[in-house]
Amino acid sequence: MSQNTKETNPQAENKARGSSTDIKKPKIIVVTGGVLSGLGKGIACASMGNILKRQGFKVNIQKFDPYLNSDAGTLNPGEHGECFVTDDGGETDLDLGHYERFLNEKLTRDSSVMAGRIYAAVIENERKGLYLGKTVQVIPQVTDMIKSLLWKAAQSVNYDIHIVEIGGTVGDYEGVVFHEAMRQLHLDVGRENVLYVHLVFLPYLEASGEVKSKPAQNSVRDLRNIGIQPDVLVVRSDYPIPEKVVVKLAQFTNVTPDAIVPMPTLESVYEAPLVMQKYGLDKLILKHFGIEQKAKFNNGHWEKLVKTIKQVKPKLKIAIVGKYLDMKDTYMSLTEALKSACWNNGRDLEIIWVDAEEIEKKKLSVTTLKKVAGIVVPGGFGKRGTEGKITAIRFARENNIPYLGLCLGMQLATIEFARNVACIADAASEEFNPKSTNHVIHIMESQKGIDRKGGTMRLGAWPCTLKNGSRARELYGKKDITERHRHRFEFNNFYRETLEAKGLLISGTTPDNKLVEMIEIPDHPFFIASQFHPEFNSRPNVPHPLFDGFVKATIKDRS
Ligand code: GLN
Repeated sequence: MSQNTKETNPQAENKARGSSTDIKKPKIIVVTGGVLSGLGKGIACASMGNILKRQGFKVNIQKFDPYLNSDAGTLNPGEHGECFVTDDGGETDLDLGHYERFLNEKLTRDSSVMAGRIYAAVIENERKGLYLGKTVQVIPQVTDMIKSLLWKAAQSVNYDIHIVEIGGTVGDYEGVVFHEAMRQLHLDVGRENVLYVHLVFLPYLEASGEVKSKPAQNSVRDLRNIGIQPDVLVVRSDYPIPEKVVVKLAQFTNVTPDAIVPMPTLESVYEAPLVMQKYGLDKLILKHFGIEQKAKFNNGHWEKLVKTIKQVKPKLKIAIVGKYLDMKDTYMSLTEALKSACWNNGRDLEIIWVDAEEIEKKKLSVTTLKKVAGIVVPGGFGKRGTEGKITAIRFARENNIPYLGLCLGMQLATIEFARNVACIADAASEEFNPKSTNHVIHIMESQKGIDRKGGTMRLGAWPCTLKNGSRARELYGKKDITERHRHRFEFNNFYRETLEAKGLLISGTTPDNKLVEMIEIPDHPFFIASQFHPEFNSRPNVPHPLFDGFVKATIKDRS
């Protein structure tokens, strides 16, 4: 499913977009960040998208990341967080997950663009002779390529509004070219068709007991130095922002006080759209663009969601047995999917993070898992921690603790079953135990001989057929499903009959029955694992059926 995107001639395309009247041009919102990283720019973009969608607009969101990687597929999840996979097989930044969850839309690989893809396309064009003997420079060739990829995404569907998040903060060396391309936009399409939003942070100084606006002022000055006057400031702070600070910020940043939107640290990120709405950001945006709302504003279901989140509910302890535990963002979509299922069942999620390596090295007894209501083994790569995860899976199976396995979590559950139920003592995966003679998990045929990393795994949405009578079939309520994948290894069909004879149910396969997509153990309260990643398709107010079924089982059986 993965395909390489062929970038075309950006100058010609941008020119066409600037002059043609028959191509619909969406309004563009550019979101930049200042002061600090990690302020929640992705959540701010997603929230803006959420409230604009409620006004009846078709909204797209795209992120530009200044990293020289081609995509997020080759980034270390332990440092950068989850690699979010789109239906079309894009390996993208985790912010795409926020965008999809807040918009309730499926986005494409074009919504996540990293600098490596831009430079590669420019260099490829140069080799093809498309620049006709000219010197190739950051301005205009690279900035044109950035804008061409922006318009490609913005005009891929009939969008009314296209939100663009620029990764990093203003002043980062690697971000300059992106900010410059965004500056040029207002010349290309008119100032009234571009809205610049800058996200800043106000630190709190204990000694004087006040929030300080100087770093935010400086950040806006940096932005203005490169020619961008923000129209809106979204102001993050851990403390309340007094009116006088808003007035001061307005004075020094040339942004009107009504366009300064406070964004305090919230109990739940899902509150952010409601806060933006409260401060009238939606009205401000429409006024800037000179457009009317398309539908009567109704965010009732979102308000209901936030109300549910804030209600005091019994806690549900779920163990996530993983290995990237210093960086919890690695499991972003998983934790959001678990939360959603918990809220739907009147519970609050309490995650018990379990380091698989500690179990493996016997620093932590697997019996600590007795106190949890359910166990999840998520996706992962490489050998580290796999034996600890297998021990945890065995514990879940033997102690009737509900178990949900995702991707690697299915592969390891297969190995555990093969070893301890089917008595195949050296059952292993070819990925981390190449010498074993019993690879119950082996390299996929289509993956043999691939040595390039990045965009080469089995990626994106693939159809799966569920077996009648299986738990999975019952939970999904249908036979044919589509879920997102990201893996190189698979269940080895050679062992299918042996494992089935011992009680493992192959509950989902590709429609041609060639690849195993789901397994379950029927005489267990809940033991289901999938080769795909259902977490990418969960929504905060519409839990994914597998997660919902898992949480229901934990409540029924354990608490
Ligand atoms: N490492 C395994 C594979 O490549 C599982 C991947 C995953 O969990 N996403 O098949």
